[in-house]
Parts: sequence; structure tokens; C-alpha cells
Amino acid sequence: MVLYVRVEKNEMHGNLVLLIPTQKEQKPMAENDNIYMRAALDEAHEAYRVGEVPIGAVVVRRGEIIGRGHNRRETWKDPTAHAELLAIRDACQRLGGWRLTESVLYVTIEPCSMCAGAIVLARIPRLVYGALDPKGGAVDSLFDLVRREDLNHRVEVTGGVLEDECRALMQRFFQELRGQV
Ligand SMILES: [Zn+2]
Repeated sequence: MVLYVRVEKNEMHGNLVLLIPTQKEQKPMAENDNIYMRAALDEAHEAYRVGEVPIGAVVVRRGEIIGRGHNRRETWKDPTAHAELLAIRDACQRLGGWRLTESVLYVTIEPCSMCAGAIVLARIPRLVYGALDPKGGAVDSLFDLVRREDLNHRVEVTGGVLEDECRALMQRFFQELRGQV
């Protein structure tokens, strides 16, 4: 059994805090990643149902989903209404604070530059995404905004989780959109 133990610097007091993971966090990461990416995919399907570009996200803390979001750009007429931002806002409201330390953000598609920035601002330690976004991705495709050496917060990244399903949903959406025009 692998035991994940993380040492974090407490921002307020500068002392080191040892975080002992809960039982749930001690499951192999890959197994959990599939489970939570499945929840992000459920959110993406919600977006698909209402004619939005199908991207979904969840924030998980200590094995519990504390934030959910899917793209609502068209519905809200808001260019910033991306899945990741909405999931982060949902999680912060639930926690009553803006620091999402101890949290993992799962999103079906590689985040854009705005969302990558928000992940850093929220101090999220780990990001898991499904498929690459070659035209807008700001983690692996076009830039890397989350693992820069000169940032005061860097994010651990795992890509390609349930990649085929995440990509297939996007392809289906755009094929149907083109078919209607
Ligand atoms: Zn975004």
C-alpha cells in the first residue's frame, strides 16, 4: 500500500503542517481519478444537453466532491462561464474561503489560460484533465501556466484520464453543430 503524505507550508504562520490523508485518499490515485473524471463527464453531458460546448469539472477535497460546474457560456451570455471557474466558485462558497488547498480539480478538457490562472489563484495543488485542447490549452498545448518555476504556486498535473470519452463528446457536439448549419 502506498501512503500519500504531504507537507505544506502554512501561509499564515509559516510553520510546516503535516497532512495525514484520509482512508479514501489512500486508494490508488488512478482508480480515484477515473471515478472523479466520470463525475466531471456527467457535468459535461449536462452542458451537451442544453446545447453548450460539453465541458464539465468537479473539485474534490478529501475524497468528497465539493464543487461542480459545466460550461454555461451561451446560457449566461458570459465568456467567462467556463466549467472550471464555476466548479471553483461552487467549492469556495461551500468551504467559505478562497483557498482550495487539499483539493483536486478534474476537468474533461485541458484548461484555457483564464482557467489555468484561476487554478493557480485558488492554490489548487493538483489538476487532472481528460483530452488536450490543441487550440486553447494553457497547461500542455500552447503554454504551461501552472508549472512555471517562477510562480509562487505550482500545480501537479495528470492529463489523459478518460481521454477518449472526453474527446468523443466534444467531437459529437461539433459534428452535430456543423450538420445543422
Ligand atoms: Zn477556461
